[in-house]
Amino acid sequence: MKNYMEDVVLEVLDVALRLNPDFCRCEKCRKDVVLIALSNIKGSYASSPVGEIFAWVGQSDRQVRTDALLAVMQALEKVAANPRHNGQIQLKEN
Ligand SMILES: [Zn+2]
Repeated sequence: MKNYMEDVVLEVLDVALRLNPDFCRCEKCRKDVVLIALSNIKGSYASSPVGEIFAWVGQSDRQVRTDALLAVMQALEKVAANPRHNGQIQLKEN
């Protein structure tokens, strides 16, 4: 189930990146987007009586993709506003 969610998010991430050509392409930012998008999706279905992930994958494929793309677009905005890659790149020369 978790893998299914990640697969869909990674798939729509490609679409979202094409729509946002200025977004940073580094691995750190892409990973952050995936993590934020996944938690957004879980958050929107956590209150479902069926249970978060089952409710999500129980929907039509088209609805799942629409939700995932929306979550990824929101995640892109968050990461673009506050990228964490700068603190991550540390050159050690000792
Ligand atoms: Zn980056």
